Amino acid sequence: AYNFCAGPAALPTAVLEQAQQEMLDYQGKGLSIMEMSHRDQVFVELAARAEQDLRDLMGISDDYAVLFLQGGASTQFAMVPMNLLGEGQSADYINTGQWSKKAIKEAGRYGRINVAASSEDTHFTTVPPQDTWQRSDNAAYLHYCPNETIGGLEYSFIPEVGDTPLVADMSSTILSRPVDVNRFGLIYAGAQKNIGPAGLTLVIVRKDLLGRAADSVPAMLNYQIHADNDSMYNTPPTYAWYLAGLVFQWLKKQGGVGSMAQINQRKAEKLYGFIDNSDFYSNPVEKISRSWMNVPFVLADDSLDKAFLAQAEQAGLLNLKGHRSVGGMRASIYNAVPEAAVDALIAFMADFEKRNG
Ligand code: PLP
Repeated sequence: AYNFCAGPAALPTAVLEQAQQEMLDYQGKGLSIMEMSHRDQVFVELAARAEQDLRDLMGISDDYAVLFLQGGASTQFAMVPMNLLGEGQSADYINTGQWSKKAIKEAGRYGRINVAASSEDTHFTTVPPQDTWQRSDNAAYLHYCPNETIGGLEYSFIPEVGDTPLVADMSSTILSRPVDVNRFGLIYAGAQKNIGPAGLTLVIVRKDLLGRAADSVPAMLNYQIHADNDSMYNTPPTYAWYLAGLVFQWLKKQGGVGSMAQINQRKAEKLYGFIDNSDFYSNPVEKISRSWMNVPFVLADDSLDKAFLAQAEQAGLLNLKGHRSVGGMRASIYNAVPEAAVDALIAFMADFEKRNG
């Protein structure tokens, strides 16, 4: 079966197989990683290797701390302003979809938020051009979501924001293509798409942005405290960290994110190409801003949705239902979804159209 779930998403089969082999007895230690202290030298080394592999894959310099946290990307919606938004300051946000909106709402609890641009009036099918953004003077940071998982909208550019720290929710695009980390003040991502299992949240933060949280910020929500303790201020999500490490090694074996980008682009172009050539299926997003990772589409006749999903499942094509807020279908084609899965999906869609069109 092929899994098109938006998250928790497919993991590479080779990673799951390795984890299965090592699950009961990690490297002859007589116990599982799950049962091992996070202070054990074995785990400390494994954790450091995972971090180094991620640094290699993304080209993360020593100017940045890499944090392995919990709480999901949703906790980052709060942690970002709690740590970066000083007394009396405001922050700029770009609203391009449901995840931007949630980030904006949460940040509004902590300070003044300026929505510098929004594409809500096009139902989030476009990215507002940067020359239309109404940025505030002296914003503490600018936040955006480079890939909106629900709408299938992905920025084709990294915003130019001068000295303002750029903050990105990369939950559903991280590791799908190369990005210049040096352009960012802070990147965060829930793990459950391109990194590993749910329960782990990655934060990559420029070190000069640490130490800005007010004293009232709880220790567990303070980046500085996590950075000072190598993400082991409390018990970290050890098994998820280990699995993320296996995914990073798998990515290196595939040739890194540059190679993944070529495959991801090809997968996405095939699927969008098929959809565009059909009157039976459609995708509303402007072409330049179509996501490589999440491909939403609707059937011209939505009374066929149920049959489409049921027959797809029978054909081993799982989790194609669109997000509950928008309906229709969505194929999430993250790194671990092979090109053969996209080929199988297209063949099924063509056949379904022939039988029902
Ligand atoms: N941001 C984006 C872009 C997402 O896709 C998601 C979840 O799918 C979230 C944030 C929320 O992540 P979490 O469930 O880890 O809190």
